[in-house]
Amino acid sequence: MGNLHNGQVEVVCGSMFSGKTEELMRRLKRAQYAKQKIQVFKPVIDQRYSTDHVQSHDANRILSTPVTTAIEILEKVEDNTRVVGIDEAQFFDETLVDVAQKLAYRGTRVICAGLDMDFRGQPFGPMPKLLAIAEQVTKLSAVCMVCGEPATRSQRLVGEVEPSGATTEDQVLVGAHDYYEARCRFCHEPNTITSFQTGLFPKSKLIQKTPEKNETA
Ligand SMILES: [Zn+2]
Repeated sequence: MGNLHNGQVEVVCGSMFSGKTEELMRRLKRAQYAKQKIQVFKPVIDQRYSTDHVQSHDANRILSTPVTTAIEILEKVEDNTRVVGIDEAQFFDETLVDVAQKLAYRGTRVICAGLDMDFRGQPFGPMPKLLAIAEQVTKLSAVCMVCGEPATRSQRLVGEVEPSGATTEDQVLVGAHDYYEARCRFCHEPNTITSFQTGLFPKSKLIQKTPEKNETA
């Protein structure tokens, strides 16, 4: 049993491509080195994609348990687990906030990683409340693909109907990193989804189409 006072909530947030999952895994691995039992959970959002691992771009993998609701996390956390990681936290509903609180009061260290904003730049799901109740908040940035400054927002690059069948009204296209790029506040266009007729353009072509601002720079 761990010390009750190890119980706390940490949030790692930021835009897409900001390294949230890498940071989550770095913390979990440190806990493993310290011989603390960890468990990792991830929401089931799309059955077509691998849900049994938290996977990041550098191909590091930690086994994770897919869950459909936040309550399931409570049910599946084992007594001797000291650290609970939750990836893609933005996809849970606000029950996740209560679940994180309960675990922290029991002495569990809870690390949540997720998008703080959706592609419109609006607070995403339970993230605002999680950020409020957390002891520790880390906000990561990516690199703006238009101007090169630090990026805090996720720009959706395609509109209309996606190959996945998602529409422009969905907050995030699941498993579709190719349809987004990181942008700063000033290059982010929340209301104009940069729209292309055929959808699947290489990123370099997409970027060439946007830099009207750069001509005067
Ligand atoms: Zn920018």
